[in-house]
Amino acid sequence: MRQPFVAGNWKMHGALERNRGLVADIAEGAAEIDGVQIAICPPFVYLDQLHALLGGSGVALGAQNGCAEPEGAFTGEVAMPMLQDFACRYVIVGHSERRQYYHEDDALVGRKAARAVSCGITPIICIGETLAQREAEATESVVTGQLQGLLDSAGHEVLGKAVIAYEPIWAIGTGRTATPEQAQAVHAGIRRWLGEHDIAADALPLLYGGSVKPDNAAELFAQADIDGGLIGGASLEAASFLDICRAAARVDR
Ligand code: PEP
Repeated sequence: MRQPFVAGNWKMHGALERNRGLVADIAEGAAEIDGVQIAICPPFVYLDQLHALLGGSGVALGAQNGCAEPEGAFTGEVAMPMLQDFACRYVIVGHSERRQYYHEDDALVGRKAARAVSCGITPIICIGETLAQREAEATESVVTGQLQGLLDSAGHEVLGKAVIAYEPIWAIGTGRTATPEQAQAVHAGIRRWLGEHDIAADALPLLYGGSVKPDNAAELFAQADIDGGLIGGASLEAASFLDICRAAARVDR
């Protein structure tokens, strides 16, 4: 049985004072929501603050990135063991913004996922196609190609311990969402591919990400293979993030 999971990706947003109110409101609301794993992924510099603010709340902490190397001369990077110091339970790897702006490929993303798992941190691995690829009807081959690249790099054991987030790039931050049917079709394909490659497909949480809002979350989460969401913009406001978490809680599996 897969528990619904909703993770907020704050991206490069936040400020000490503002975080205090936002996290207090989320923690208070989350206490009333049963049966959903909720996580917040702030920028690195706020991990310490959120670690303190979230203590005992049941809301988990995650990071937005982590280095594939354990330590050393890698200026500007943050190592996975450092994330352990702040009790990060999750780390996002391979977000499309990292792939696009920092040229991260599946081989590197797979190595990051493996490093996370070796530190006891669950990687939330992002995959998804561009608009041009969708229009060329290449979505399935792009997504399964990404999965194959990740498997080649990270191996079965690591992929089996990950969360996969399907995020069509054309839906991220654009206000344009995949329809529930479009998203479900890709999620079902991902689950099928995982099963065919001897990865515990039924147990693995598959999240949808891309302009999830309170008014479309319920329909998306009602799909058989969508186990929750990776939420960008709507996670920056407690009311909308909590509404999305409540939508996940209402799903009858
Ligand atoms: C994301 O950052 O992963 C994301 C899905 O963003 P948004 O919800 O704003 O589209």
